[in-house]
Amino acid sequence: MEKSKSLFERAVKVMPGGVNSPVRAFKAVGGEPLFIDRADGAKIYDVDGNEYIDYVSSWGPMILGHNNKRVREAVAAAAQRGLSFGAPTEAEVKLAEKITSYLPGIEMIRMVNSGTEAVMSALRLARAYTGRRKIVKFEGCYHGHADSMLVKAGSGALTAGKPDSLGVPEPVAGDTLIAAYNDLLGVEQLLKNHEAACVIVEPVAANMGVVLPKDGFLSGLREMCDRYGALLIFDEVITGFRLCKGGAQEYFDVVADLVTYGKIIGGGMPVGAYGGKKEIMELMAPGGAVYQAGTLSGNPVAMVAGLAQLEVLDELDVHGHIDNLGEKMAAGLWGVVRDLGIPACVNQIGSLICMFLGIDSADCYEEVMKADRSLYARYFREMLAGGVYLAPSQFEAMFISFSHTDSDIYDTLCRGEAALRKMKSEGLI
Ligand SMILES: *Cc1c(COP(=O)(O)O)cnc(C)c1O
Repeated sequence: MEKSKSLFERAVKVMPGGVNSPVRAFKAVGGEPLFIDRADGAKIYDVDGNEYIDYVSSWGPMILGHNNKRVREAVAAAAQRGLSFGAPTEAEVKLAEKITSYLPGIEMIRMVNSGTEAVMSALRLARAYTGRRKIVKFEGCYHGHADSMLVKAGSGALTAGKPDSLGVPEPVAGDTLIAAYNDLLGVEQLLKNHEAACVIVEPVAANMGVVLPKDGFLSGLREMCDRYGALLIFDEVITGFRLCKGGAQEYFDVVADLVTYGKIIGGGMPVGAYGGKKEIMELMAPGGAVYQAGTLSGNPVAMVAGLAQLEVLDELDVHGHIDNLGEKMAAGLWGVVRDLGIPACVNQIGSLICMFLGIDSADCYEEVMKADRSLYARYFREMLAGGVYLAPSQFEAMFISFSHTDSDIYDTLCRGEAALRKMKSEGLI
């Protein structure tokens, strides 16, 4: 089989950076990306013949592990009947019924093809429903790459956001107001001074490493949104079905007005969705005046993949297993860094984990940004050499799947300890 190195040489000639999504290029950790041949259970295999314990899990969707038989067979059977019709199918009704069955707050749902599309559509809907334009977003939360979400905090007293990417018009960014995660007072200031259509939040921030909401943060947002007439949008593209079947809404007992999904609900196929109360969702075309459409939306193969994965979550104690391993991993990592006397902190909730090197607490974006990226880069490369595939960036989560075992966790911790011990002996830490 052609090796990663030569595939990457070909890739960079025909694809920007050689990849179809930036983080895959390994820029944050150095070296060149591995090209993957296949994956099975908790293991991923590159084209160079190496096996790794995988903690990227395709960035979250593979909650059962890779190549799950049930999902694979559902996909194969659907593919036999045709790949896309551009017309309603039974599978999309079943998946919509399944997702809406978990929570009273989600009465209706619309399928799209990615988390980005789900967020973009939910924001349009929130603006339409409230008749307001401004959006409140948190620093460090990622909501896909719609223009209004590629925004960073303006300087000093400026509350309006600034574009965080070339090509995002200043006026668009200016309608997005940036608040600090876990800072309720800051949000209140914004809502008081601006008529905001919505507050969008990752209920657990999992795109700046993993940062947990402080007690009362999410319920405080709920209350403030009600007080100031803004909708509360939970972006559950990662947390949906991962924290528990009812996602962050159930886990934290806070009901949002609109919720976005992606990742897990597609079982590894490109799927996103947004949903909420009937009264709001009925504003969508064709019944309502908010337009949103998709040639491949509700794709029959993607729908059965997601449905099969969610059915397994109903039948087996997936969350009991992954949460238990998540706790073991976090406790083990804490033990390693304490024993070695390494400045670090480990944030964990259920099967989402992040070890930040070089800082001793990570409760907001400002703290997270002080983590030592070059240490992480070295740690990443040591772990890769030891057969553990971590995210190629300090600011991503480790995802544990139903296929991971106690012995995977044990092996990972042993390799982690060896890596950090080596780095320490070289005087890096
Ligand atoms: C991954 C992610 C998105 C974007 O989803 P895509 O399918 O990559 O477009 C949006 N929000 C959150 C919280 C995510 O983690």
